[in-house]
Amino acid sequence: MQNTVTPTHCPYCALQCGMNLTPAPDGTVEVSERTDFPVNRGALCGKGRTAPAVLSSRVRLTSPLVRSEAGALVPASWDEALDRIADGLRRTRAEHGADAVGVFGGGGLTNEKAYGLGKFARVVLGTSQIDYNGRFCMSSAAAAGTRAFGLDRGLPFPLEDVPRTGCVILVGSNPAETMPPSLRYFTELRENGGTLIVVDPRRTRTAEQADLHLAPRPGTDLALALGLLHLIVAEGRTDEAYIRERTVGWEETRAAAMAHWPEYVERITGVSVPELREAVRLFCEPEAAMVLTARGPEQQSKGTDTVGAWINLCLATGRAGRPLSGYGCLTGQGNGQGGREHGQKADQLPGYRKLTDPAARAHVAGVWGVDPDTLPGPGRSAYELLDALGTDIRSLLLMGSNPVVSAPRAAHVEERIRALDFLAVCDVVLSETAALADVVLPVTQWAEETGTTTNLEGRVLLRRRAVAPPEGVRSDLEVLHALAARLGGERGLEKGFPTDPEEVFEELRRASAGGPADYSGITYRRLAEENGVFWPCPAPADAPPATAGTGVHPGTPRLFLDRFATEDGRARFAPVSHRAIAEEPDDEYPVLLTTGRVVAQYQSGAQTRRVDELNAAAPGPFVELHPRLAERLGAAEGDPVAVVSRRGRAVAPARITTAIRPDTVFMPFHWAGEGRANTLTNPALDPTSRMPEFKACAVRVEAVGGMQPGPRA
Ligand code: SF4
Repeated sequence: MQNTVTPTHCPYCALQCGMNLTPAPDGTVEVSERTDFPVNRGALCGKGRTAPAVLSSRVRLTSPLVRSEAGALVPASWDEALDRIADGLRRTRAEHGADAVGVFGGGGLTNEKAYGLGKFARVVLGTSQIDYNGRFCMSSAAAAGTRAFGLDRGLPFPLEDVPRTGCVILVGSNPAETMPPSLRYFTELRENGGTLIVVDPRRTRTAEQADLHLAPRPGTDLALALGLLHLIVAEGRTDEAYIRERTVGWEETRAAAMAHWPEYVERITGVSVPELREAVRLFCEPEAAMVLTARGPEQQSKGTDTVGAWINLCLATGRAGRPLSGYGCLTGQGNGQGGREHGQKADQLPGYRKLTDPAARAHVAGVWGVDPDTLPGPGRSAYELLDALGTDIRSLLLMGSNPVVSAPRAAHVEERIRALDFLAVCDVVLSETAALADVVLPVTQWAEETGTTTNLEGRVLLRRRAVAPPEGVRSDLEVLHALAARLGGERGLEKGFPTDPEEVFEELRRASAGGPADYSGITYRRLAEENGVFWPCPAPADAPPATAGTGVHPGTPRLFLDRFATEDGRARFAPVSHRAIAEEPDDEYPVLLTTGRVVAQYQSGAQTRRVDELNAAAPGPFVELHPRLAERLGAAEGDPVAVVSRRGRAVAPARITTAIRPDTVFMPFHWAGEGRANTLTNPALDPTSRMPEFKACAVRVEAVGGMQPGPRA
């Protein structure tokens, strides 16, 4: 494999940028431009460019670790480690029942691993208690998209459509930091005469490039969308023919919007009426327009309704299911999209099927060779699962996640993890969560294994193995196979858990056939030849008559152009009203905290905090605050400040800027320790998506070394 150039994809975010990898004689791996992949056309951010550093990191795990009697994690053989996991899970099941064993996955796992993990939980462990960290990512957009359109796919169109539309409203998204190569789509939009509106409480690097920046108070963007819809109606800018022909539920939604007068919305959001009017003008004047959301509106205890309110704008103006128009969600994690389609979510079976649907259960059980009645029902959502650790759930198998850093109310989650009878973690480094485990298994990374991911456009991609893994490391698929062999007893269950990813994908194709996310017409060969295929892509026998004769379905880059995926083909308006965040500021906690990411770190930092170049660019957490707030605290740039919520206290250096509202502070969430932002965040859940309210909670800010009263901004 020496000096062979392997075209593949970045391990990190949902853009899944294409890159070439070349192993060098000194054992390192070189990244070079891969210009044939259309999404990034060779461009990479610093995270992608430095990703190979994690392959050979000095803190890379290369041996299983088991907890010794003295309490330390010590090296062990694979057999000993796997036996310990099988014993731990078996004991819990025998003493407390199958649902006392939990499984927690990740949005970074390949489709094959996500599929295998869901099957392992339901067939081998027989537990309903499985969910994944993608729940914290885009579940509100998924719920709102499903409610409105009958189907959830991050973007229902390729990114290449963005520069050709007339206006994009980007809500709570900062691609300049989270996925920099995507910024060119918005730059090209403006070069083509289109306009960009950014909705964000902070004047981010993305907002600086916008034609209009609306900076609402955190947690009020639902009201903002209602105010815009009110003006759209009042100014006669609705598309009545479209509403009549392609939607249902308009009258109720219209009435809800008309109750949100612009002046009332201005009071709630802090966005002025002239700004609202300008946004409506920019959005409605062109023939085509889009609304794209990300974590800002989604990570709220009313995230589903908030996204629904933004979808309403598209539906009222006829901007969904039409060329160059529509609503989309910019998913976050590398396989945030595919990870939610193939069964590691608490309520889903492969192919984006519902676990409660008898026909779906029968189909998937048939592929798995089990009785449908043996499949457990839906389990708890991610935070609820973590909250039940040590009580209802006594043992946990965790893959590809670091909830000690990434979960809300993280100190409590850490306490619950410590209360477990048994914890097994598969990871590439000793993450903060892995450090608490009874057994840690060292697993392969993206460049050392082949597998598929599905990017934010719904484009299924092939990541190819470019280098051999270090000695002592095995793949997650091998782990599932070995555990199935140990836990399956006489049943020979390991046969259902092949270690070859292509073999797993072949089964996934059959399991997804006929489901909403139908991958049955996709093969590894096609992915290699076609640079990705958009789902749904049914196998020829199931393909529509127009394509069946060709022997191959072309995939579906653009959804909903003829009809929405609802029973009657019409989209559903969401008749939503403004409501407050779960925890409004008060005298004791007078400031709002919002959290997010910085360009040089990724999610919980388990990988990127191991890269020197990224650490040099983003060495640690900080508290971004307005000069007025800093002045009241007597804090200067770089001074440590404490942020205190009802859940805990975090300390980090002050970063003083007018780019944030005076009533709000911002912290990035990539770090553990005393600067851990998620110590503070609120686990209040959205009733539909079960998304926690990461984006807004009440805090007070204190100068470290002397308690000062929290200021009223
Ligand atoms: Fe990787 Fe995302 Fe950066 Fe692209 S934008 S290189 S996918 S982290």
